[in-house]
Formats: sequence, structure tokens, C-alpha cells
Amino acid sequence: MAPEPDNDQALIDFTCALVRLESVLGNERNVAERVAGEMRALLFDHVEVDDAGNAIGIVRGLKDGPTLLFDAHMDTVDVLPAEAWSREPFGGQVVDDRIWGRGSSDMKGALAAMVYAAAGRERAALAGTVIVSASVGAESIEGAALRTVMDRYPADYVVIGEASGLDLVRAGRGRAEFIIETSGKPSHASTPDAGINAVHRMAAVIGEIEKLPMPEHGFVGNGVMCLTDIISVPYPAHSVVPSGCRATYERRLLPGEDRDGVTAEIVEACGRAGAADTTVSLADTDYRTYTGVRWVEPKWFPPWALDEDHALVQSGLRGLRASGLEPSLASYQFCTNGAYSAGVAGVPTIGFGPSTEHHAHVIDEFLDIDQLLKARRGYSGIAAALLDRTAS
Ligand SMILES: [Zn+2]
Repeated sequence: MAPEPDNDQALIDFTCALVRLESVLGNERNVAERVAGEMRALLFDHVEVDDAGNAIGIVRGLKDGPTLLFDAHMDTVDVLPAEAWSREPFGGQVVDDRIWGRGSSDMKGALAAMVYAAAGRERAALAGTVIVSASVGAESIEGAALRTVMDRYPADYVVIGEASGLDLVRAGRGRAEFIIETSGKPSHASTPDAGINAVHRMAAVIGEIEKLPMPEHGFVGNGVMCLTDIISVPYPAHSVVPSGCRATYERRLLPGEDRDGVTAEIVEACGRAGAADTTVSLADTDYRTYTGVRWVEPKWFPPWALDEDHALVQSGLRGLRASGLEPSLASYQFCTNGAYSAGVAGVPTIGFGPSTEHHAHVIDEFLDIDQLLKARRGYSGIAAALLDRTAS
């Protein structure tokens, strides 16, 4: 029997089923097929799994109008250390009105709620199109999968379903990864003065980078610069002064920052360290989806923001309130697929999802069922506020 879009138990069961299908990054095939199957059962007008492995479902209204795209990623982070979990990481159990397991909060609950909210649209009232994109690879390469979806199905509005505590997100920090390489001159470790130690040069560079003032944004918070790894060349070295050193910095980006400006700050810090031949470059992501599509691109995922009075923000708030929710305006501190939709494509984007950032990537991850059900109502409310035309 076909599930009813407004049946709470069907939504809960579907969420549990998704949690039971392990989909650690790069292993989303089973979830994509399950999501596509549920969309067909719920009578979406078009359902497909695309070349990159995203599951896409489309609901078309009887009247013309804009296209609203809901996006949720299917991949999760790993469960390690699995023995630290007190419940089955892929058990999808319901205990204490919570769904337990990896991906429940980040973000299979949001995905399931989107699928059910889209399926419940009344075609006769719907002026426009609702698309649900269940995307791959977001834990590695934010935005690439959503780009493949939006290239084929252009959207006028995007809703990212990452956890927002049921608040409406209108901005997100971006993310970049910089590789810094110093060079020196090798010599025998018994005569270090005959060489130039690239690690000592890096130490000076790090000293200058750590002094860089981080920008602040009134709504989104602070920029961050974090040293995440460092290695000398050769490594390990045997009685030799290292001729190279490479460090990786992760930078969290604020609305208004751009690639040239952020790179220039780091290059100037290297110059102040007296290490002018130091190179600064963006690291590359090299990611292959479970279907074999390969994405190689620099790790620059832009920040984004919409003004509070933007029509999408105001319609979103109206829709959520009409659904009985009491959203505040918020920002994502982590990087999301909004880096593409808003930051690159410039398509108006908001975020709204059940649970909070603090429930993601943790041992004993869970999702409150109350949040799941409210999320579905919220997605329905947003769609109704943007696309429903009852009086015409
Ligand atoms: Zn996520």
C-alpha cells in the first residue's frame, strides 16, 4: 500500500530505514535507491538517480511558477570508534521518542521530512515545481553534487536541510584549505649551518600566520584559521636538514571574504616571516562518487548570506510560522551545500532542518521525533508560502 504523505508513522519508519542503510561517505547507493523507491511510492511526477548518484524527485504543480529545490545529503561520516556507541550505529532504533543512529540528525531525518513534505503538495494549489535532491559526497566536497543537480534542474530558491534547530538560516560560513610550502637547502645534520632548515622557516611563517587578525561578522561570527597538519621533506629524515616543509591550514570564511583577498593575507604573512619563496595554494579535493563520477577541484567553498528582508527569508519565516513553528534567524557555522547554491550560483538559499549542529558527527547520534515531525511541517510551510496559489 502506498504511504500517505501526512502519516507520521510512515515518515518515522522511512527515517529509521534510511539510518539502517549504511551510507558512510562514498557509499550512498543503497540510500539513493531507497529514496528513489519511496519517491515513486509517494507518486512524485519524476524520479531518477542521476549519473553522479544523486536521487532526484520532482513534484509539478498544475500552474506555472518558480522552482523550489530542497537539498539533503545522503552521506554520513564514519562511526568510529564503533565500540564506543551504546546503541547500534546503524540500528535505526526508536527509544525514548528518539531515532538513534549515524545519520539520524545529519541528515537522514531532514531528507525523509523533505520527501514527505514534497509528496504532500496539493498539485492543484501548487504554482511551480518542488524538487528534492538527495545528494552525495557532501562530507567531502560541499556543493559539487548540488551543482550537478542544479545544472540540469535550475532552481529559483534553494532550501538546505542541515540541522538548524528548526530556526531559519540565512547565512553560512565558508571553508577553504590552504597548503603552505617552505623550501630550504639540505645538508648533513652534523653540519646544519651548511644548509637551510625548511622547518625553521615554517616555524617563522606559522608565527606570522597565528598573528593574523581574524575578521568578524555581526551575524555569522568569526573567521577561523586552524593549522591542521604539517610534515617535513624528507620524512622521516635520517641525518639530513629538511629541504622542504608543508603545512595545511583550514580557514573558515565569512560573508564578504573572497579568494584573492584571503590568499593575499597569507602570502603577506609569509613575506613578513622572511620566507619570500614560500608558496601558498589551495588544496584540491579529489573525490569519486559511488557511480564513478570524479570531481577534482580546489577546496574553496564560499561563504554566503541573504539580507533579513530578502523575499525568500521573509516567505520562509511566514511559512514556518504558519506551520506552528517559532523560528529565529540563524547562521550555519559549518560549511554546507549552500556554498554552491548561494555562494557560487547566486541562487537565493536558506537553511532549515531538525536537530542541531551539536548532534552531528557524534557518538550515539540521535534525532528527536518531535523535531522530525516539525521539520516536515516546516518544509511544507515554506513550500506553501512560496508556491501555493489558492485564490486565482
Ligand atoms: Zn550534514
